[in-house]
Amino acid sequence: MAIQKTSAIVLKTQPFRSTSLIVTFFSSTFGKLRGLVKGVRQEREMRGAIFELFTNLDIVYYEKTRSDLHLVSEASISEDYNAMRGKLDCIATASYFAELTDLTSEVHDPHEKIFELLDFSYRYLAALPPARLSRLFEIKLLNEIGWLPYLEGCITCQAPLERGYFSMRQGTLLCPNCAPAHPDAKPLDREPLAVMRYYIHHDLDASIRFPMTRQTEKDLEVFMSSFLLERLGKPLKSRIFFDKISPVLSL
Ligand SMILES: [Zn+2]
Repeated sequence: MAIQKTSAIVLKTQPFRSTSLIVTFFSSTFGKLRGLVKGVRQEREMRGAIFELFTNLDIVYYEKTRSDLHLVSEASISEDYNAMRGKLDCIATASYFAELTDLTSEVHDPHEKIFELLDFSYRYLAALPPARLSRLFEIKLLNEIGWLPYLEGCITCQAPLERGYFSMRQGTLLCPNCAPAHPDAKPLDREPLAVMRYYIHHDLDASIRFPMTRQTEKDLEVFMSSFLLERLGKPLKSRIFFDKISPVLSL
């Protein structure tokens, strides 16, 4: 068994037997990992808090070769993102980021950019509007894993486009000439398209500063929500929760 060290953010935890915990991490070096932590309950005061959701840890683990469940032997907190923990909308958004990352990633598929995206998002969640950060998160994540459609022009005839039509079923951008062949294609406006293209080509700091109107924010929310529903086949639990609490929070 090889000993590995990495930074890793806690996405999910579940109790295992009476004193252990199975933790799903997203690590900076190895991508998504599942680790078994033994003896958690006896040392609950000390260790329970360490494996709290959305905490960035330095972990040491024994890599199992016959299983994807590794044995975590050491962990210390590198960043607890404390600023976001007191607000319900931040916690709901943080859960959404974790669930979306977990659902769209495979174990042992390294994506340092996804680790950086999680770290960036949790770090700034308390200071930035959750809706704005959510769209950035979705687009950056899907771009990194290769799920984002080709958005530079029409998929069929390659014509460059400033606005176009989008088929959710096919996941393709189309020009006005090619769109009629796809009856489900709906108009995609210039602004949301421009934002997605900007996010694809710029880093996180530049992207979050890119100006966006409320209307564009809403258009993008509808677009990404339909796109994810089409790809995942069901709404995320954390997303349903967020939609339930947001009318209350905006009162
Ligand atoms: Zn075309």
